[in-house]
Amino acid sequence: MLALMRETFDLPRSLTGDGVRRTLAAIDTLVPVQVTEVRSGTVVGDWTVPPEWRVREAHVTGPDGARVVDVADSPLHLVGYSTPVRARMDRDALLAHVHSLPGRPDAVPYRTSYWVPEWGFCMRHRDVEALPAGEYEVVIDAELDPLGSMTMGEIVIQGTGGDEVLVSTPVCHPGLANDNLSGVVLLAELGRILAGRPAPRRTHRILLSPGTIGPIAWLAANAERLPRIHAGLAVMCVGDPGAITYKASRRGDAPVDRAAALALAHRPEPHELRAFIPWGGDERQFCSPGYDLPVGAISRTPPGEYPENHTSADDLSLVGAEALEGSLAAVLEILEILEGDERPVSTNPFGEPQLGRRGLTNRRGGEKGNQLEMAMLWVLNLADGAHSLTDAAERCGLPFPVVREAADALRAAGLLAPRAA
Ligand code: ZN
Repeated sequence: MLALMRETFDLPRSLTGDGVRRTLAAIDTLVPVQVTEVRSGTVVGDWTVPPEWRVREAHVTGPDGARVVDVADSPLHLVGYSTPVRARMDRDALLAHVHSLPGRPDAVPYRTSYWVPEWGFCMRHRDVEALPAGEYEVVIDAELDPLGSMTMGEIVIQGTGGDEVLVSTPVCHPGLANDNLSGVVLLAELGRILAGRPAPRRTHRILLSPGTIGPIAWLAANAERLPRIHAGLAVMCVGDPGAITYKASRRGDAPVDRAAALALAHRPEPHELRAFIPWGGDERQFCSPGYDLPVGAISRTPPGEYPENHTSADDLSLVGAEALEGSLAAVLEILEILEGDERPVSTNPFGEPQLGRRGLTNRRGGEKGNQLEMAMLWVLNLADGAHSLTDAAERCGLPFPVVREAADALRAAGLLAPRAA
């Protein structure tokens, strides 16, 4: 994940353009990515896919002939979607187009102007304060191509049944590590891992698309698929050292909400569960009222809540291997609960079946064996076809994998009916 992050960090991602294409191409070397191009001008929901933005060069030269800022040094230096400019102007006129952070004088802010035609540069405040009076030369050699397109990618792990699980992350920020790139590399690795396993029951669809308009475009194009979405996770900002934060779906009681609470309760690191709010990442679209899909959101420190967010301080030093690994493990556990859940039916519901006769009483001995036996009693007691293994795990307080193992042992002993598809 860190290698992919380093490889793609400086690509000039935006809502459109080659930065996203090259990021998806880098992922495609690890796991196949299905790429979709949505034409500029396409109306999706209340939005219109913008022209494709391409930048050849963008820089400002000072009165003494020195470059004071250059997009070649970092994609953050140019306001996203800047319109083309070739002009000379005095310092005050230039400063009207320069963004900096007086409170963080050594960080370059990240700014975009997708929907209002504008141009601008982003600089360290320290460097802005050092700009001498005089005439500046501004060059932004960019085009906004109305015949271009917006690029989205999907990693699809085909399931044996008809239902789907959706995992989504935005892929539009350039030159920032935690927001969005940590989610991108985590989902690439997730796709690689899932693609190497036996086919799941449900198709797992991993969506990598530009923030806001990407999920809106995907939703508009996939109306017939939406009723089959059993669960979803919006993933972003998963590489910083903060505690894992799960934000429930708009419904609040969807299977993914229960799976996330269960998985995180038994993980060794701190976590926080939050109610839905209409602010954050891709879940804002999936959980809009017309769709109201069962999609929750997982992050470490949520976007907007860490001081480095949307500044050059959100760099590779903020993202750690351990944090990424822990986030990936949490996502995998949530997906495994969703995949492993079922509503078992006991073949022997009249009185307790005799476990000892079947070699099922504390076979292992010790604490683990006691846990497994306790889980079996819960599974058997709830195996009425109405309760799920998630119900059993919630009520017995044991990790889901123990409950799943208990159900497997009971089924192998003939005490549970064959699993429904
Ligand atoms: Zn962001």
